[in-house]
Amino acid sequence: MAGETGYDRVLRFSIPHRNARGRSVRLGPVLDTILTAHDYPPPIRRLLAEALVLTALLGTLLKDEGSQLTMQAQTQSGVVDLLVCDYCDGELRGYVRHDAERLAMLGRNPSLHALFGQGYLAVTFDLAATGQRYQGIVPLEGDSLAEACESYFAQSEQVPTLIRVGIGDGAAGCIAGGILVQHLAEGEAGRERLHVRMDHPEWEHVAVLAGSTRLEELVDPDLSQEALIWRLFHDEPEVRVEPGGVLQRGCRCTIEHYQAVLAKFPEADRVEMRDEQGLIMVDCAFCSKLFQIDI
Ligand SMILES: [Zn+2]
Repeated sequence: MAGETGYDRVLRFSIPHRNARGRSVRLGPVLDTILTAHDYPPPIRRLLAEALVLTALLGTLLKDEGSQLTMQAQTQSGVVDLLVCDYCDGELRGYVRHDAERLAMLGRNPSLHALFGQGYLAVTFDLAATGQRYQGIVPLEGDSLAEACESYFAQSEQVPTLIRVGIGDGAAGCIAGGILVQHLAEGEAGRERLHVRMDHPEWEHVAVLAGSTRLEELVDPDLSQEALIWRLFHDEPEVRVEPGGVLQRGCRCTIEHYQAVLAKFPEADRVEMRDEQGLIMVDCAFCSKLFQIDI
C-alpha cells in the first residue's frame, strides 16, 4: 500500500469518541546505527532497543520544537548500573553502562530484575516553550521497561496508558516496534488529568483492543504500522491516523561542547588530563566517538 509508514517513522493516531490517543513506532536502520556504535552483548542490545522504542513513543508526545524527553534507568549495584536515552526533535540516542562479567553469569535471557536489582526509572520532560521540567520516578518493577513506563503514567501523571514493545534481533540486524495508547479527558488536545478509576468503560474497551497486539506484529515487515492500527481498531466508528515525523540517530557531542565542559575545570585538573601531545581525550558515551580536545 502506497504511503505506508516504514522504518524509523512514527505514526500518530487517535480514537476521538473514546478520548484515546496513541503512537506507533518501528525502528530499523536508526536502531542498528545506535547499537553498532557499541559492542553490546545480546541482552543489553535488547534492553537498549526496548528503551529507544519507549523513548521515541514518549518523546513524540511532546508538542513543541526543542522539547526533550529523557529516560534514565539506574541502580546502585545492578549488573546494569545506568541506561540513558533521550529524544529531541526526532533525534534519538542512548547507551547502557553494565558489568560484562556479571552479565555473562546471568544466561541468555535475564529478567529485568536480574539486570537492575532494585532500580528505578526516571522520565523527564523538558518543555521548550515554557522552560518547565516535569520528572517522574518509579521503581523498576515488573517484567519490562514498558511496564515501568506504564507505572510512570499511572503514578506520576494519572493517565491510564497501555504500552507494548516487540524486539526482533536477528542476523539481518535489530528491528523494534512499539505501540502506546492512552486515555485523556479531552483527547489529543487536552491535558486535563483523569483520576485512575476502575470504571472507564470507554478506556477499558480501547485497552482490550490495544492489548491484543502480539509482539511479533510490532516487528513484522509484512505488516505496516497502518495495517496494525487498522487490525486493532477497525470496528471503531472513527480512527484518525496521521504520519508522525522521521526518526534519526542524533548526538550533541561536538568539540565545542567538550571545550565548554572542560573550561569549567580548574587548570590543575586539565594538566592531569592532558596526554603527551597536550590534548585531552574525551569519548562520547552515546556514540563512542573519540575527541581530541585542545584546551
Ligand atoms: Zn556522541
